[in-house]
Amino acid sequence: MEQQDLIVIGSGPAGRRAAVQAAKLGRRVLVIEGRRRVGGVSVHTGTIPSKTLRETALNLSGWRERGFYGSSYRVKEVICGEDLGTRLGMTLEHEVSVLEHQFTRNNVRCMAGTARFTGPHELSVTGDDGTEQMVSAEKILIAVGTEPFRPADIPFDGHHVVDSDAIVSAPRVPRSLTVIGAGVIGLEYATIFSALDVPVTLVEPRETFLDFVDREIINEFIHILRDRGMAMRLGSSVDRIEIGSDGWPITWLGDGRRIRSDMVLFAAGRQGATAALDLESCGLAVDHRGRIAVDPATFQTEVPHIYAAGDVIGFPSLASTSMEQGRIAACHAFGLPVPPAPKYFPYGIYAVPEISTVGLNEEDARKRGIRYEVGIARFRETSRGHIMGLHSGMMKLIFSLRTHRLLGVHIIGEGATELIHIGQAVLNLRGTLEYFIENTFNYPTLAEAYKVAALDAWNRMPPVAAGEEPENLTAEAAE
Ligand SMILES: Cc1cc2nc3c(=O)[nH]c(=O)nc-3n(C[C@H](O)[C@H](O)[C@H](O)COP(=O)(O)OP(=O)(O)OC[C@H]3O[C@@H](n4cnc5c(N)ncnc54)[C@H](O)[C@@H]3O)c2cc1C
Repeated sequence: MEQQDLIVIGSGPAGRRAAVQAAKLGRRVLVIEGRRRVGGVSVHTGTIPSKTLRETALNLSGWRERGFYGSSYRVKEVICGEDLGTRLGMTLEHEVSVLEHQFTRNNVRCMAGTARFTGPHELSVTGDDGTEQMVSAEKILIAVGTEPFRPADIPFDGHHVVDSDAIVSAPRVPRSLTVIGAGVIGLEYATIFSALDVPVTLVEPRETFLDFVDREIINEFIHILRDRGMAMRLGSSVDRIEIGSDGWPITWLGDGRRIRSDMVLFAAGRQGATAALDLESCGLAVDHRGRIAVDPATFQTEVPHIYAAGDVIGFPSLASTSMEQGRIAACHAFGLPVPPAPKYFPYGIYAVPEISTVGLNEEDARKRGIRYEVGIARFRETSRGHIMGLHSGMMKLIFSLRTHRLLGVHIIGEGATELIHIGQAVLNLRGTLEYFIENTFNYPTLAEAYKVAALDAWNRMPPVAAGEEPENLTAEAAE
């Protein structure tokens, strides 16, 4: 049996970052991957494909130019599945080859097959052809990610009724689309296809969605989507989906209404991909969604030499955070000190328009009893916004009234997921409103919105009293 220092199960963001980190520490590392090629959900069905489809849709539809040339403007008159698929294939090929090269350069070995525990340090790996190999390691990282939740009563067929895996495996532009679930994934696809002028109906059983995002930003988002004709059925449960005689699915809602569309995307949740692991053999259990509990500081499971990182441990389930978790797990496993991660990380929602957020929203600040002031900038108030023809987009900054410290940044509109990092740096470095007022920003840029929003708040804020200590947000969060 092959003996390794570290075995990583899964080659997504958490697994690959852990593997490379451990290899850089001079350890023997083996990555086991069930798919034919490395990269995980992130590269093959999740982050990269959805962002590539988004970019293709925005470019070919001429979306970013419509502020000037009107809503009928298009770069390509007829956009079909082949247009989406071609760019998707090229991007994925490039991503995979970069990853394979990274593994080769760092002497990380890869084994194709499905891993299953046979003991606390031992695994059996079954290849596509059914052959089995035994491997073992001092430390093991479970980074198997998640898979779409597929209830048995939903008639998935990969063409008219799809999940988020199928929608990218053979992309097509449907005549009309019903999206079930207003989570991040559902919203991204609903708005991408709506940007391609596909009539979209969004169905969500709850009255609200994206509850971690500032309400004012969500209200703005809902307004933008309704304004461009997207039907939103909030507070509507799905009773059943039937296939009509013409092959098109009919979604029946709890209140008796029906929606007939060419395609239904069922995007109501994901579950840990732990079923094949036979976790009892190593002394671990999972929750009702197949997720594994870990120590959030070290990513150790209840069995100390077995770590878990990425989506399989639950929130926040982002590629960005998964990479960090993998790196920390590998450092801890091999005795490298790891300082605690900064409290606030950005959340990017690549809908059209995009949304990004970091730190406290108004509701969080109120719950913590922090007195605050808000500054708002509309992108159309910036020269860059005029040049780009932007009619929507806003930035909202939240400052402590007492100390002027930046508490939260919330952005909707073009470039939100990039712009957020300025706010993230100021926030995690404990900066204040004065940073934005006193510093010069490139002109004309959308980043200038920081200055506009800060000045907006400053107009209503008293100066900081002498001797005021900045809030310790980290300590407050731990309370
Ligand atoms: C549609 C969509 C869009 C997304 N967009 C974003 C985004 O814009 N930004 C962002 O930060 N995040 C995004 N995410 C989330 C992101 O993809 C995940 O957070 C990330 O992929 C999780 O990484 P991971 O390391 O947990 O493993 P994953 O990427 O989930 O990969 C796990 C791998 O483990 C393998 N595996 C599973 N079981 C076994 C086994 N028994 N043996 C061997 N191999 C196994 C699987 O084949 C898979 O390749 C998106 C997700 C989806 C679905």
